Amino acid sequence: MSLSLVTPQFEVLRDENKCIQCKVCVKQCANEVHKYDAEDNVVLADDAKCVNCHRCVVLCPTKALKIRKNTLEFRDNANWTGQAISEIYIQAETGGILLSSMGNPKPFPIYWDKMLLNASQVTNPSIDPLREPMETKVMIGRKPSKLEFDKHGNLITEIAPQVELDMPIMFSAMSYGSISKNAHEGLARAAEKLGIVYNTGEGGLHKDFYKYGKNTIVQVASGRFGVHLEYLNAGIAIEIKMGQGAKPGIGGHLPGIKVGEDVSATRMIPIGSDAISPAPHHDIYSIEDLRQLIFSLKESVNYKKPIFVKIAAVHNVAAIASGIARAGADAIMIDGFRGGTGAAPTRVRDNVGIPIELALAAVDQRLRDEGIRNEISIVCGGSIRNSSDIVKAIALGADAVYIASAALIAIGCHMCHSCSTGKCNWGIATQDTDLVKRLNPDIAYQKLVNLLSAWNHEIKEMLGGMGINAIDSLRGNRLMLRGIGLNEKELEILGIKHAGE
Ligand code: SF4
Ligand code: SF4
Repeated sequence: MSLSLVTPQFEVLRDENKCIQCKVCVKQCANEVHKYDAEDNVVLADDAKCVNCHRCVVLCPTKALKIRKNTLEFRDNANWTGQAISEIYIQAETGGILLSSMGNPKPFPIYWDKMLLNASQVTNPSIDPLREPMETKVMIGRKPSKLEFDKHGNLITEIAPQVELDMPIMFSAMSYGSISKNAHEGLARAAEKLGIVYNTGEGGLHKDFYKYGKNTIVQVASGRFGVHLEYLNAGIAIEIKMGQGAKPGIGGHLPGIKVGEDVSATRMIPIGSDAISPAPHHDIYSIEDLRQLIFSLKESVNYKKPIFVKIAAVHNVAAIASGIARAGADAIMIDGFRGGTGAAPTRVRDNVGIPIELALAAVDQRLRDEGIRNEISIVCGGSIRNSSDIVKAIALGADAVYIASAALIAIGCHMCHSCSTGKCNWGIATQDTDLVKRLNPDIAYQKLVNLLSAWNHEIKEMLGGMGINAIDSLRGNRLMLRGIGLNEKELEILGIKHAGE
């Protein structure tokens, strides 16, 4: 093999005056970056193996370590950047596709940061959430267009099954297999405590987690892994995954190395076999086919649970959403192009799909224009980073949001983008039994509860500031938003005025 032209992305800097050769970094790094040289009593580093996950930096007892980007610079060239050149070196050496994890990192506009919220001044006074009631509960599912009562005042309109959330937030789909059992346990227990739901993803439901059923969305994806009648009836809702923001139009691939005994039993596939989800569902080639699957699933649960359909935000998302609503789905989950993933081809992750903000606004408007907005809830995800993103999403038309990357960050993810290797040093995106133990589910649970309790409080403060006392009153209220630094077309699609108007 010829000399590799690929240079390390990061440099490991060790302050020898601080290092006490304790070997914590050697033991902690699953990528084997650090190595102890007993002869010279020094710890050495192989920069080429470093993914910048920060595990060693955080755990080093003397704070002797720093990781920084490799300072090796190519000559300035706006077209042939260092990254573009390095990627060609890699593909020329491996002949393979480039693989990445987590969401699209490219500097496309982040519209959440180009929208500002309103607040009451003088008239329509603001509300203090510490002193006055403030409602953040939402119901996800089909709503009736009108309510009918009998002569005694009893409701006679049949209400479709709903998912009740104590705050407008859900944990998005992350399969057991792509993330560890301890991570799943943290999510399931936090969802139960917070009165929200988490999502199995396409990996089936581990037998230990059936007890969290009323806080679980069970997913049916193209591979149908782990799908059986008991599974469908175990959750509070069923989600059909048609697409995913990180990799629209393609399937999934869980490498066999992550398919141990437990994952194999949960997914109903042989130990060590690659779990490959096809790009399409092989029984869905039209909206009519999707409708058949929606009603097959409704039949299987006796029409007692709502059926959601998840799609990636793509160019004609509004028309697709309209079809999904007419196909009988109870909620549409739209995943923007910054949505995370355990593994995706880099070119797809970085170049396919559209921002969730534009997709959400377009879908909400289309469903309103067609007079069917009540027939379906809208949930959006794809890099919701904080409570103000959520408030803006609700004002743009969402009933609730999905979070996944933020939840993983809360439990220790350092966004090193190397989930696909199965060597997550934080015990999250791994099935390695030693690495999994690094994530304590009790601590993960508590951090998730803390994060979302804090966000819910912030949501109430922002609602109160606008003089609104219920999250439902904000949904689709775009008068509460103003754009900043956006062009006419962007403002038109978002359906908001510019700041100052
Ligand atoms: S963890 Fe810190 S102190 Fe311990 S060997 Fe590594 S660099 Fe040195
Ligand atoms: S989950 Fe683990 S491997 Fe994936 S980005 Fe986060 S820290 Fe890195």
